[in-house]
Amino acid sequence: MSQITLGILGGGQLGSMLSVAAKKLNIKTVIYCNDEEAPAKNFCDDFIYAEYDNNEKINDFAKKVDIITYEFENIPFETLNELNKLKTVLPKPSVNRLIQHRLAEKDFINKLNIRTTRYVYIERKEDLLPLGDFLPGILKTTTMGYDGKGQFPIKNIEEISSLNINFDNEYILEKLVKLKKEISIIVTRFKNNKYEIYEPVENTHENQILKHSKIPAEISKKIFDQSKEWAVLIAEELKYVGTLCIEFFIDRNDNLYVNEIAPRVHNSGHLTINAYNVSQFENHVRAVCSLEQVPIKKLSNAKMINLIGNQIIPYREGLKLKDNQFFFDYLKKDIKEKRKMGHLTILE
Ligand code: ADP
Ligand code: MG
Repeated sequence: MSQITLGILGGGQLGSMLSVAAKKLNIKTVIYCNDEEAPAKNFCDDFIYAEYDNNEKINDFAKKVDIITYEFENIPFETLNELNKLKTVLPKPSVNRLIQHRLAEKDFINKLNIRTTRYVYIERKEDLLPLGDFLPGILKTTTMGYDGKGQFPIKNIEEISSLNINFDNEYILEKLVKLKKEISIIVTRFKNNKYEIYEPVENTHENQILKHSKIPAEISKKIFDQSKEWAVLIAEELKYVGTLCIEFFIDRNDNLYVNEIAPRVHNSGHLTINAYNVSQFENHVRAVCSLEQVPIKKLSNAKMINLIGNQIIPYREGLKLKDNQFFFDYLKKDIKEKRKMGHLTILE
């Protein structure tokens, strides 16, 4: 077969890592991004800088590639849908439309008889007033949220009057779960209904941003089995093609909840680069490009540490690493507070 060119919408670190994985498989990548300084520019074969609603550039992009995927979920549905008429987009645009809306996403999960947090749709500030039962809770924008952005914790009814937020957006109010732990499952579904499923990853967040991930997760057999079962059920129901991440909460009574679905490769799966024979990125490329499926094999236990803001500096300055430590610099120009700048994976 002649060489495949994969188009990727979005040029963040996930786009970079997808490009690196594609290169290993002799697949060329074209990244399309609305950030001229996108990190993935350093790793792809070709780069298009334009807004996601620029029809002319979107057409140019489609002409250059054989197949299209995306590395973040907030690509306008219209863009994905138009592109899909020109070249196959995977995962399907309809999957993205469902998941990029927190209310539709949670309704979908509940219809599968899978537990989520309790939630309610909020259009106006007054909608919150009778909802003391949902407090303490978190108000979340229905769209465009990530890394805790667009989230507002509310402790009690008294706090509602002083809330200073923009109700031009739509929200959901979610009851706070008393968390024991958070885990995630990364699963790759291939077109022939086959799966590669990684073992559950245990995640620690600080200020709603992922800080640490590790395998093995310290969880009961019940949670281990149920999380895998739910992840496969969700991927199956979506007829998903590619790598998908399901984020879970575990409460203090060892109940499992699906928190959210990411229709893409995920930060908590970065350790698969070093800890498995085939990473989440390589598996995504294999699935969307219809390449051969290689059974995954775990090579090592591992821990991943996100380097946020200034934490990248000592590593950039050449801090000496041990043989079991792997440093990834996303090559973002500006160091910003709360911005994921790189990560470190430690095999153990
Ligand atoms: P994002 O899209 O920003 O990742 P999430 O809904 O996953 O948004 O929230 C980020 C983090 O905030 C979660 O991983 C968890 O640590 C905390 N969090 C969010 N919602 C709840 C909740 N209902 N109960 C307890 N913790 C929550
Ligand atoms: Mg999340």
